[in-house]
Amino acid sequence: MSAEDLLRLADAARCRNQAVQVTGILLFDGMHFFQVLEGPDEEVDALYRSILRDARHSQIVRLLRDHAPSRRFGGRGMELIDLRDYTAATVMDALLARVTARSSLTYDDRVLKIIKACAEGDWKDHFVEGSDAAEWTFAPGGDMFGAAGGVPVAGQPCQFALQPIVDPLRREVSSLEALIRSSSGGSPEAYFSSIPRDQLYQADLDAKAYAFALVNRIGIGDCKVSVNLLPMSLVAVPGAVDILLEQLAGNGLAPEQLIVEVTEQEVISYLDGFKTAITQLRRAGIGLAIDDFGAGFAGLSLLADFQPEKLKIDRTLIDGVHADGPRQAIVRSIVQFCAALGITIVAEGVETVEDWCWLQAAGIEKFQGYLFARPALNGVAPIWWPSRKSRG
Ligand code: C2E
Ligand code: MN
Ligand code: MN
Repeated sequence: MSAEDLLRLADAARCRNQAVQVTGILLFDGMHFFQVLEGPDEEVDALYRSILRDARHSQIVRLLRDHAPSRRFGGRGMELIDLRDYTAATVMDALLARVTARSSLTYDDRVLKIIKACAEGDWKDHFVEGSDAAEWTFAPGGDMFGAAGGVPVAGQPCQFALQPIVDPLRREVSSLEALIRSSSGGSPEAYFSSIPRDQLYQADLDAKAYAFALVNRIGIGDCKVSVNLLPMSLVAVPGAVDILLEQLAGNGLAPEQLIVEVTEQEVISYLDGFKTAITQLRRAGIGLAIDDFGAGFAGLSLLADFQPEKLKIDRTLIDGVHADGPRQAIVRSIVQFCAALGITIVAEGVETVEDWCWLQAAGIEKFQGYLFARPALNGVAPIWWPSRKSRG
């Protein structure tokens, strides 16, 4: 966009915004726009929605939505800074010259800090330039595993549904997660609510034999299997790890094929007892994954003390990440510390192509979610693999 076109665009925006009492500032570096909109909630939200709908834009990310006692750029509807006219040394003065807020405390607030970072060229902190969602098409692959399943197996106290964890670009299944179901195929809650409290941990552990029997039945080769366990099931049941090892051996599975998933919240509650169990799992060759990372209190201190093989980022951080600045910043930092610690990341609950593209561009390679495959009772659903649309 030329400087003249940019001016025309800003003029038009200024007129429109003035009519609805919206003010702010627009920065442009020749490639990226950065905009602050300020005004009444409804007007700002409506304007933001219309920007999202505007087909001229792509990769729109909301960095911050906040409330303030006064406007920062109350001057002229929409200020404009063409960053091509400034250097990193001169841009701050130009920016501050446009700030109308009276309180000098404003000069230290988050809005100006974010603008400053962008004005100084740190666009990369806010953009992961991923491939465009529109470049991809999805098609179901052929059955990799036997027996489609779909119906409950008679005579079992519980059932399992399998959901693949995939590396979509390599078209590999890295693991199958076994999710417990009631005897009729109901939810995990339905199953656990039928178990007396004092038998919960034993039942959780015993149930795993049915998960291993299922993957043995459908034949998974050297693919891995992930099971969920309450940490207390490993702590309170005597010889728990040996029981798991027997269940594995009885179903022709190697300990190295098993990954035990525990949620950070539960681990933190039983940390001391669980440390012994972790040692036993390690010695046996069984992998450990932290499940639902970021859902509760992010277990950073937990990670300081011990590092699992895998960390599964919870859906609450994944859903909508492609358009959400705070989620992007958090996920990027998780990617960074996991890379430094040799921890494999799985993004959980990926439902949209846009989120997958962003996560893949951010360096995540393993995914679990409806976008690729839903859990299937006693079987594995066809996996939807992405491929790049041919051009032209
Ligand atoms: P989880 O271990 O985090 O399992 C993933 C859950 O997310 C599953 O729910 C799965 O169906 C769902 N999911 C997968 N992809 C998507 C997606 O794209 N969008 C959405 N909205 N959801 C998705 P499910 O099967 O209802 O299991 C819920 C939780 O129950 C599990 O969460 C796990 O914490 C627990 N659980 C499952 N099996 C067992 C078990 O054998 N023992 C114990 N202790 N807990 C279990
Ligand atoms: Mn899990
Ligand atoms: Mn989870």
